[in-house]
Amino acid sequence: MIKATKVRIYPTPDQAEFLNRQFGAVRFAYNKALHIISSQYKRHGTKLKAKALQQACINLDKAFQSFFDPKLPARYPKFKRKHGKQSSYHCTSVSCGDDWIKIPKMGPIKARIHRQLEGNLTSITLSRTVTGEYYASLLHDDGVAAPVLIHDLDANQVLGLDMGLTHLAIDSSGNKTPNPRFLKKVSANLRRKQKSLFRCQKGSKGRAKARLKLAKAHQRLANARADFQHKLSRMIVDENQAVIVETLKVKNMLKNKKLSRHIADAGWSGLIQKLEYKAKEQGKHLIKIDRWFASSKTCSCCGHKLEALSLNVRDWQCPSCSTQHNRDINAALNIRAQGILKLKAAGLSVSANGGKRKTSHALAAA
Ligand SMILES: [Zn+2]
Repeated sequence: MIKATKVRIYPTPDQAEFLNRQFGAVRFAYNKALHIISSQYKRHGTKLKAKALQQACINLDKAFQSFFDPKLPARYPKFKRKHGKQSSYHCTSVSCGDDWIKIPKMGPIKARIHRQLEGNLTSITLSRTVTGEYYASLLHDDGVAAPVLIHDLDANQVLGLDMGLTHLAIDSSGNKTPNPRFLKKVSANLRRKQKSLFRCQKGSKGRAKARLKLAKAHQRLANARADFQHKLSRMIVDENQAVIVETLKVKNMLKNKKLSRHIADAGWSGLIQKLEYKAKEQGKHLIKIDRWFASSKTCSCCGHKLEALSLNVRDWQCPSCSTQHNRDINAALNIRAQGILKLKAAGLSVSANGGKRKTSHALAAA
């Protein structure tokens, strides 16, 4: 399996200058290519493949592919800014030791390698955060084959997840994970820092300082969100063999300007991404349901579909089979049922007589 390990590096001033020149060149190529592709897109509405400019363009190409993929919640690529995050990719003559990494054309860079790297190092991506920290992401093939996907699934370990805003996730077992709303907690602070940045004169030292302060606050917010997503996805994947999520909803809801900020804060796509790679590491399944219009108003017991179900109705009774439903748990059950169909269509078996269901994480939080 190809694994990625990110380590902090400590370039000398000379090395940092060299890296920054390189970041600048990469940024230039990326922006140039974006300009070329954008004018083509705006003028003719057509896509232009960007292969000639190598990695910068491969990245930009990926960003455009995501944008054109209706299943992905990606936005139109933006120009990279001088003060934004920088990166450069190296895949030839790269190496690393106990406390250093090496890329072509410069001496070893000091690094804190916190984890033993196994197997072949295939590439190094260097980056500089907005707050001025340098990192190296080391991609290595550990030589161990990826675990075989679980073929006979225990239905008790197949989980449907309905993602929302009040609750970040409600699963088909009835567990509710509250939405931590990280942005809401720090938004006053961010707004204050943003204002003080605007008050500073362009090009002044004060402005640089204010920018750094704002960037650090944003970084802390992103770290807190990522940390939460890592813990939640770890628990969900550890307790289940297959997790089913709905993805189309995300892209559609992002189009709503009022909602998009809250959705970005909830971090659904970040959570799905982490669920996906953690599942893969254990031979488990992450199933994405593309299209499921009536997950809330279809009875998960008998399949009866209501004409309408207004948003404020949290509980309802099925007129056909009299089952009492909680709106969100019913939706999660429908998502789960769709996922099981998809698993079976792929030739896997899902049987009810398996192991016992473990108590789940979110019960405590609910
Ligand atoms: Zn029913």
